[in-house]
Amino acid sequence: MHHPRRRFAFTPSVTLRAVTLRAATLAAAVTLLSAGNAGAQEYLKLHEKAIVVDTHNDVLSTATMEGMDFETDLTGKTHSDLARFKKGGVDVQVFSVFCDDTYGVGTAFKFANREIDSLYAIAGRNPDKMQIVTTSAGLEQAVKHHRLAARIGVEGGHMIEDNMDYLDSFYRRGVRYMTLTWNNSTPWATSAADETSKAFTVTLYGLTEHGKNIVRHMNQLGMLVDLSHVGEQTFWDAIHTVNKPVLVSHSSVYALCHVPRNLKDDQIRAVGANGGVIDVNFYSGFLDSNYVPRMTRFLARHKPEMDSMVAAKAPSYAVNEFLSKKYPQEADSLRAPLSMLIDHIDYIVRLIGPDHVGLGSDFDGIESPPQQLNDVTTYPLITRELLNRGYKQEDIIKILGGNFIRVLKANEVTP
Ligand SMILES: [Zn+2]
Repeated sequence: MHHPRRRFAFTPSVTLRAVTLRAATLAAAVTLLSAGNAGAQEYLKLHEKAIVVDTHNDVLSTATMEGMDFETDLTGKTHSDLARFKKGGVDVQVFSVFCDDTYGVGTAFKFANREIDSLYAIAGRNPDKMQIVTTSAGLEQAVKHHRLAARIGVEGGHMIEDNMDYLDSFYRRGVRYMTLTWNNSTPWATSAADETSKAFTVTLYGLTEHGKNIVRHMNQLGMLVDLSHVGEQTFWDAIHTVNKPVLVSHSSVYALCHVPRNLKDDQIRAVGANGGVIDVNFYSGFLDSNYVPRMTRFLARHKPEMDSMVAAKAPSYAVNEFLSKKYPQEADSLRAPLSMLIDHIDYIVRLIGPDHVGLGSDFDGIESPPQQLNDVTTYPLITRELLNRGYKQEDIIKILGGNFIRVLKANEVTP
């Protein structure tokens, strides 16, 4: 989740969103169809053969908050739904359980459980299409039967409300990764947003002793320690505490785009040495350092509207989202090129080899994916681009999901 999805008065009409997204999806379909040569056959075959895994999608929380249900056709409203995962050749999806920092003690754990309830209900109604899997054996079984293997990740340690029993409860309900922090710090771990904020005034950065115990307990349970969103100090404290490979579920490369929650080279090397995996985030603002200047110019062009929203106390994400939906063509031109997503994958491969990178789209938690990657049906384009760059098939299979499955198996505890 890049943006918290709170309801806001300026939310544009569904009709407007529908028109914009529907046009975008059609464009992707046309791209796929028009690539009718031997190369096209090859990339689609490879994509079909690979176990495609995405480790971060926010449609569960987004749909729960907005009263929608992703087993229905949400084309035009979201990036994802059950039928579109299938179209995109996605075999394994980690569904993010999320609430923002307005939820805390007494509310966060409860809300997280509502989302988990909702996922189980959807899976229960669609046994032939999806299956919640908690083990790698279950995952392989679901893939074999052509069902979407659904896994659960909790995005933000605040949802355990400082209570180790809640962590155990999440595990029993099938949660198999937890991001130690979201943008908000917990009492035991500082976030990237806070560690880099001048307004943040705690004296201790990183993991407290309690935080280290939580990380050790996750390793014991067999719940992946996810280091997206955490501050640098928390990252280093965690990587020195774990005894299993870590997951970085949806983060990109700092050297290519300087945002605090992307990974610096020494962090990337440390994940490599740990045997973990970095799953690259698709958000234009995390891939392309010129995205923010482009967005700033876009907002300046619509200053009167922006000013009236700011005066009405609209948060900046709501302003961006509203204007992006109102001026779809302009907003489209702000998006990072698809090649830049591949650049981030390439950068990690050049630094530490092909065994430690994968995909963590953040679809339905971001308003601006790269050009052409309009929704979850477009994953085959990534396979095509990797082939075009000369990647070997075996390495593409690792990047599309093999690396994550290795990390998953290394974390599993056999009962
Ligand atoms: Zn996130």
